[in-house]
Amino acid sequence: MSKLPVMEHFYTIQGEGIYTGHAAYFIRLAGCDVGCHWCDVKESWNADEHRQYEIDEMVSWVAQSPAPMVVITGGEPLMHPLDELTRAIRALGKRTHLETSAAYPISGTWDWVCVSPKKFKAPRPEVLLLANELKVVINHPSDFEFAQHHAQGVNPQCKLLLQAEWSKESVHLPKIIDFCKTNPQFTISLQTHKYLNIP
Ligand code: SF4
Repeated sequence: MSKLPVMEHFYTIQGEGIYTGHAAYFIRLAGCDVGCHWCDVKESWNADEHRQYEIDEMVSWVAQSPAPMVVITGGEPLMHPLDELTRAIRALGKRTHLETSAAYPISGTWDWVCVSPKKFKAPRPEVLLLANELKVVINHPSDFEFAQHHAQGVNPQCKLLLQAEWSKESVHLPKIIDFCKTNPQFTISLQTHKYLNIP
């Protein structure tokens, strides 16, 4: 039975992206070498600082929750093999959702893939193509061009979202509103969990 490093796990409401407002069980895996300077979970970066859990135990957390969907996030979850975990979650009849920068090869079986590409470690083209949702964090004016560039690498059904980096949200949100009015294929993702003060 394999183990995975977990920083935290909790049942909450998905705060951002297409599934905003949906109850979801979150498992935040530890380990990330992407290095976003504005990262709000830097404590997840070093996997060695976090306890490893058996897949069975992780699945028991989910099984005890009424959550219809389980979001595997990080850190960068694709640094770990996720086939066994996602197979077990789906065997419970729950949806598997991935939040990734796409910097590593895909593993796992997914009902929804959210790719949030980062400038600091390029997304892999084959993972971008699997995205159901492309969510680009806007932290600098050049991030709009970055979003348009990666929007060309996703499949035609993929939803395109822009989300202001939280610490500068008031600065970037007006620009995002203008951009989405000019480029209506993009929509706005708000970090509603931060407004609601939930995890
Ligand atoms: Fe933080 Fe995510 Fe960037 Fe990793 S990819 S540094 S977890 S924001």
